[in-house]
Amino acid sequence: MAQCKTTLRLESAEQSASRGVTGLAHLIVRVYGRSQLPHGSDCLFCKIVAGEIPSTSVLDTDHAFAFLDINPLAAGHTLLIPKRHYTTIDEMAPDDLCSVIEPLAGLVSAVKSATGAEACNILQNNGTAAGQVVMHVHFHIIPRSPRDGLGFRWNAGKYSEHQAEQVQQDIRAAMNKTGRNK
Ligand code: 5GP
Ligand code: ZN
Repeated sequence: MAQCKTTLRLESAEQSASRGVTGLAHLIVRVYGRSQLPHGSDCLFCKIVAGEIPSTSVLDTDHAFAFLDINPLAAGHTLLIPKRHYTTIDEMAPDDLCSVIEPLAGLVSAVKSATGAEACNILQNNGTAAGQVVMHVHFHIIPRSPRDGLGFRWNAGKYSEHQAEQVQQDIRAAMNKTGRNK
């Protein structure tokens, strides 16, 4: 089982402002240099990690970077991404994934506290058919409040007889095949 260890460092608004980070962005910042990891040459989020494209960052660890979505569904809508380039989450080894999402709980808590939101949706569009537009793995943290008007089309269905058991077996078999069932 992968172990997750990261310490978040809280930074004051003044410290953040002196680094050009303002507003919500000052809430959580782990001060590390920008990643020198290799990246997809045409990848927007790799360019953001490398500092080639500006972003309103809120978190910077060895493995993860978080910044405000440029077109927010609500104020404080944040994107948490791996510094290393992966197109989809299923490309990631457990340790890589663990180190990226390790700050997620703290980030959610800070976003809620900063925005006054009651709740958050964590959304991860994985692949084009799932709505992924930027092909670098990212987790949306979307602040929610009771009457914010945001919603999802959630056309829930029902399994036919024995279908769930068949799907269960197929998923378990696929997990065993890849050796990723631990
Ligand atoms: P996806 O649909 O791929 O899950 O979401 C990609 C997200 O990236 C969108 O919510 C979009 O607003 C955001 N985004 C696209 N380009 C930029 C950018 O240049 N800067 C920032 N901060 N966010 C971006
Ligand atoms: Zn990338």
